[in-house]
Amino acid sequence: MSTQYDVVIIGAGISGALIAKQLGAAGKTVLILEAGLDGQGSYAGYLERFYLAQAKVPESPYTPPIVVADAQGIQNPSNPSTLAVGRPTTLTLGANWQDPSQAYLDQQGPLAFASTYERVGGGTMRHWLGTSLRFVPNDFRVKTTYGVEEDWPISYNDLEPWYGKAEAEIGVAAAVADQDYLGITFGPGYEYPMPPIPGSLVDQAVATGIANLPPVEDIKLDVSNTPAGRNSIPYQNRRQCAGNTNCIPICPIQAKYDPTVTLADALQYPTVSILYQTVANEIIVDANGQVSGINYLQYDDPNGPATRNGSVSATRYVIAAHAIETPRLLLMSTNNGTTPNGVANSSGHVGQHLMDHPIYLSWALAKDPVYGYRGPLATGGIESMRDGAFRSKHAPFRIEIGNEGWNFPIGDPYTTTLDFVLGTNASQLNPGKTPLYGSGLVGALNTALTRQFRLGFLMEQTPDDDCAVTLSPTFKDRLGLPRPRIRYNFSDYTKMGFVVAKRTATQIYGAMDAHEYTLAPDPSLLGKDPTVFSITYDSNDVPVPDGTAGATTAYFRYFGAGHVVGTYRMGTDSTNSVVDSQQRSWDHSNLFLVGSGVFPTVATGNPTLTLAALALWAAQTIVADLG
Ligand SMILES: Cc1cc2nc3c(=O)[nH]c(=O)nc-3n(C[C@H](O)[C@H](O)[C@H](O)COP(=O)(O)OP(=O)(O)OC[C@H]3O[C@@H](n4cnc5c(N)ncnc54)[C@H](O)[C@@H]3O)c2cc1C
Ligand code: SF4
Repeated sequence: MSTQYDVVIIGAGISGALIAKQLGAAGKTVLILEAGLDGQGSYAGYLERFYLAQAKVPESPYTPPIVVADAQGIQNPSNPSTLAVGRPTTLTLGANWQDPSQAYLDQQGPLAFASTYERVGGGTMRHWLGTSLRFVPNDFRVKTTYGVEEDWPISYNDLEPWYGKAEAEIGVAAAVADQDYLGITFGPGYEYPMPPIPGSLVDQAVATGIANLPPVEDIKLDVSNTPAGRNSIPYQNRRQCAGNTNCIPICPIQAKYDPTVTLADALQYPTVSILYQTVANEIIVDANGQVSGINYLQYDDPNGPATRNGSVSATRYVIAAHAIETPRLLLMSTNNGTTPNGVANSSGHVGQHLMDHPIYLSWALAKDPVYGYRGPLATGGIESMRDGAFRSKHAPFRIEIGNEGWNFPIGDPYTTTLDFVLGTNASQLNPGKTPLYGSGLVGALNTALTRQFRLGFLMEQTPDDDCAVTLSPTFKDRLGLPRPRIRYNFSDYTKMGFVVAKRTATQIYGAMDAHEYTLAPDPSLLGKDPTVFSITYDSNDVPVPDGTAGATTAYFRYFGAGHVVGTYRMGTDSTNSVVDSQQRSWDHSNLFLVGSGVFPTVATGNPTLTLAALALWAAQTIVADLG
């Protein structure tokens, strides 16, 4: 197949779908190439797969299946070398993180990259939570204000109108009065598309408990309702949230937004079409430095080889394939040696500065019941520590208030239930290891499970040189394409954020009269468990070498947030960045790279609303380009 389009888009996640919809509305001819299976018609199938899955992890509803049964019927993670379209899964982030027959990513450490993503129509947001925060103005000028990290080439004010458009497209439920903190502003008369999702009882207990907490690092902590991409009233022909606490990995009634909604709108335009099971494997650059085509491979069987190949041409090209798969594609595109370092990579920044929001997780029992598991997984947070003078010393963070008991930290309600049935104490809630039954069991579970809650501290990780996506020289997928190789680590600035987070958690629990159960990892796990790190610091919270007299050494375990950022950053010139502020490649003026890979810093809010705002902005630029 070889056809000419106005625009070819690689990837049908939110960034690709938003751009396709805008271009379709402008009458442009658009072809989307999507690596994964059609995700639109298969909602019921995904639900069934999720209901039947033993491991109810974020990827369990989606294709390809995360586990396969061996000859003995034992379920093992799928082998990524047999999959046409692989992706990291939660099951492959543990002890098997470097086993190439289980883990898709070729992880080089020293720490584990602990986040996952999807490669299915609709992208990673099939299993997102829905948190849709705006960044705060200082996130865009953190170097100028605090002398750390990088400034963005755009400001909050530049992005503000696009935030509003993205909130309308996603359908964000929130109130302006709850969100105007830390310098966030809104256009005159602006209202979110829907009223907020009501806060949970956990949010209320935390808000009441911290009302009299003295400032932490000169910051007064407050609970805010979290803007959410889920319907608080019927919107875009979808129902309102019924509070099933199942937002990750799949909302049974599609009250939570996912990009198949936008994709369906885009495909209503007769000029927009999509090819599923079509993996872009090379971006072709001509002698004038312009992109002249995309080569792709197609497969029929998700466990089979490529069955066809082809190429497609357009006037403009958009790569919207996620912050790990986009640099992978750019780096694979060597054009028979004419772009030996990959496409769009004269700066050498493609794949560099990989970031996430590593999570410090803590958990406690409230003094009175807070009745988690009712409503969405999270409805509120403490946003106060996202900005402040402390940012010159250590990482800022937002605090997500969980509404799913201790499910995240210890896998409850199952772990505690088994403890009381079997007489074990994995949860720490049955120290006497007493087996119970009948009304005793019911009473113990009611007392424990109704008081559980957790806080997740999402840390701003610095953009560092020792975090990168490159191509694995060793491991390939079923199509014969090199899998992503990852190097990952944390700076002391990021690690010191964990120290302050731990201290803050303990202060919050103290103010609430709650009993903390957070478990620090055993120091002996350092160097053995790739999600454990240590930091040594003095009494002024300044990192010092290990073994310094009088210093404190703390040990932490972290979790990934799925907020993959920074691998084709935007900047002010072609030496310090891959794309300009319009997300146009410095090297190839008809190529746009979109998604969170363009973020110069991971900032302090979940990334998707910001990348959606930027995608809408890029769409306008492309329409103007095309005339
Ligand atoms: C568990 C979890 C929870 C999250 N919750 C939140 C949240 O609450 N709030 C928030 O802001 N963010 C959240 N995120 C992050 C959010 O999912 C991402 O920011 C978002 O999906 C990125 O959108 P994207 O379009 O850039 O990439 P993706 O959604 O990953 O889409 C990329 C698309 O490109 C396709 N593709 C990849 N390679 C190729 C190729 N070579 N050829 C053709 N197609 C290709 C993929 O199949 C995919 O469909 C969460 C992530 C995870 C993992
Ligand atoms: S709480 Fe339930 S209905 Fe509401 S968005 Fe989450 S999964 Fe959907």
